[in-house]
Amino acid sequence: MPTAQPADPDADIVVIGAGIVGICAAAFLAEAGKRVLVVDRTGICEETSSGNAAALAFAEILPLAHKGMMKKLPRWLSDPLGPLSISPAYLPRLTPWLWRFWRAGQSDPTPAIAAQASLMRLAEAEWMGLFDRSGTRAMLREDGSLDLYESEREFQESLPGWAAREVHGIALRHVEGKALAELQPGLSPRFVKGTFVPGWKTVDDPKLLGKAIWAYAESKGARFVRGVVATVGAEGDAARIKLTDGRVLAGRHLIIAAGAWSHMLASRFGDTIPLETERGYNTTLPVGAFDLKRQLFFAGHGFVITPLSTGVRVGGAVEFAGLQRAPNYARSKAMLTKAATFLPGLKTEGGREWMGYRPSLPDSLPVMGKSRSAPNVFYAFGHGHLGLTQAAATGRLMRDLVTGDAPAIDLAPFSPQRF
Ligand SMILES: Cc1cc2nc3c(=O)[nH]c(=O)nc-3n(C[C@H](O)[C@H](O)[C@H](O)COP(=O)(O)OP(=O)(O)OC[C@H]3O[C@@H](n4cnc5c(N)ncnc54)[C@H](O)[C@@H]3O)c2cc1C
Repeated sequence: MPTAQPADPDADIVVIGAGIVGICAAAFLAEAGKRVLVVDRTGICEETSSGNAAALAFAEILPLAHKGMMKKLPRWLSDPLGPLSISPAYLPRLTPWLWRFWRAGQSDPTPAIAAQASLMRLAEAEWMGLFDRSGTRAMLREDGSLDLYESEREFQESLPGWAAREVHGIALRHVEGKALAELQPGLSPRFVKGTFVPGWKTVDDPKLLGKAIWAYAESKGARFVRGVVATVGAEGDAARIKLTDGRVLAGRHLIIAAGAWSHMLASRFGDTIPLETERGYNTTLPVGAFDLKRQLFFAGHGFVITPLSTGVRVGGAVEFAGLQRAPNYARSKAMLTKAATFLPGLKTEGGREWMGYRPSLPDSLPVMGKSRSAPNVFYAFGHGHLGLTQAAATGRLMRDLVTGDAPAIDLAPFSPQRF
């Protein structure tokens, strides 16, 4: 028999999801003096937010559908362990999302880029503030990033994307020869050019950062409950969350920050949100596997290598196969094998394989706003490849929404009702 836990009528806000987005929301609201209760089925940053590539990718303002992806699709899809794969069995369910993604790729990207750029400016400001207030600044790395190209043609194809970023003030430098070798010694000579983004930042380890932010939120009074949310509802100014073991939690406000599972909860409030998961894979090698100077991008191969305090993380890729299918770690292995040819000195033994579920919307913008039917229910999900990057901004915006302050940026492009 499950133990019954009394309802908690005193929580101002219940947050579903203790990924990086949920805990940042909790931190901002607890700082504002709100009584916050976070519920999650596993723990603090134990799922997708634990194993990502650790980038604070503030320069990443282009929608995925516009990043030259369409052109690369045929080549990528032809390699079963390549950067992009679609499970044939999953294709019928995926088709509506792919259609929206394709349509996003045909539209003028200017408004989406402007929206993403405004969110990224807020993201950077809010992360820097949160690092300082939570005492976690030492976990930030400011080494920049290096994108690598194997041919002049690949480099030339990347230029429009870089130009679009420069319009928004993102500093970068194209490099080759000695300058390239100095930015990352030990690279295979197959890489003939690179682009260095000096303002790019990473963190020591996303899981450790998430736990440190949570410790800060807890110090401000936030509390955690482990449990699987079965149903959610709202009546008047109260939200009720029923767990699968029968416990009921109640709060004046509810924030749904359940990553790739959020749309199932949002549907209870009448919102149909085309959330898909882009599954991603990696391998974390032991500390010392390579003397990596900064995060390296192999854009043509759809993966990155990141230096962490806990090792060297090799991975990325996108697999559309839904939330149920077991991971296929052959994908992690395929990227590791390639990485060993790109960095000939890489020690590939002793790695830990991982798969995570990026919560992705077809226009590459997250959902942040009020539910359709309940004024006290808010959504904070769908950050796709950028959830770590945008978590602090999302926390700030959730605080604005809950407290009734004017949101720090225009939220119309992120509206849950935009689809
Ligand atoms: C390979 C890979 C690399 C990435 N690299 C980066 C990067 O470098 N930079 C970046 O910014 N982003 C990156 N991302 C994306 C980033 O990891 C995600 O966007 C982010 O982790 C999403 O955070 P979240 O809090 O929304 O969701 P999650 O971390 O998935 O958290 C959601 C939580 O909700 C809980 N939950 C769901 N349903 C229920 C329920 N019914 N009851 C109870 N609990 C529930 C889950 O247990 C989970 O803990 C990467 C992702 C992958 C896969």
